[in-house]
Amino acid sequence: MKVTNTHGLPSVLVKACENQRKPKAESLSCTELIDSPLIHRLKLEHWDYLEVDVSEMVWAMTGTALHQMVEKHGAGTAEIALECEFEGKKITGTCDHLTPDLISDWKTTSVWSVMIGNDWLNKVAEQLNIYRYLHWKMTGMLIPRLSACVIFRDWRRSEQKRNPQEYPSRNVIEYNVDCWSVGECENFIRERLAFHADKEYVCSMAERWAKPSTWAVIKKGAKRATRVFENEMQAIDMAVTDSSYEVDYRPGAHLRCDEYCPVRQVCKWRIQNDDIDI
Ligand code: SF4
Repeated sequence: MKVTNTHGLPSVLVKACENQRKPKAESLSCTELIDSPLIHRLKLEHWDYLEVDVSEMVWAMTGTALHQMVEKHGAGTAEIALECEFEGKKITGTCDHLTPDLISDWKTTSVWSVMIGNDWLNKVAEQLNIYRYLHWKMTGMLIPRLSACVIFRDWRRSEQKRNPQEYPSRNVIEYNVDCWSVGECENFIRERLAFHADKEYVCSMAERWAKPSTWAVIKKGAKRATRVFENEMQAIDMAVTDSSYEVDYRPGAHLRCDEYCPVRQVCKWRIQNDDIDI
């Protein structure tokens, strides 16, 4: 994978991104295992042709800086390399921070990640439970607690006041994550490996970070919608009840396909925002 620098950013950033981890056919990292099998397959097939710009990797680099902070100031052990053989496949992972009674992961992300549903936090739970499983396979010790410390890089107090029910209450939150049994974890890994073995696998809507199209009912002159529907007829039904209402169509998007997927240059299943209505 070639790292480009189309905006002429400082060379220190380029250097920090240079060594992208090349995927391997014989093993899967924990992150690869829980992510789309299509992305992993296309990376394997097209690695030398793929390009990523430094500007797209800035947030990944801040994640690395965060891990270095944990390594320097954390009371336990940081950046622990984990691996095991699972039914013929090597599974690997690097756990951010470990103490005898806690495995914790540290992440920076957008508020949007946790507001569009539980998928992002579910992925964090999958990742942490696999680390716990790998650690158990290597040492025989089952760590009793898991947590994810999440820093929201775009958190805004004004938005939190406006929407206190759904918006994260602070710019940094530690989420406690439920521990799975060994059997549950093995079933999950087996299921994920089956997806990765399927050469016809195509990304799900969740893996494409799909946002559905919506129809907002807005009072004329108002900035915010009175109600937002995913069904056009429901929006029209409400709008006809009051002449001050109008309906605003908001097209959906496949955000990852469109802007963020590392293999989007070579993916024939990519859906761009202009292609279809979701
Ligand atoms: S471009 Fe879209 S469909 Fe293709 S691998 Fe990426 S997320 Fe999946």
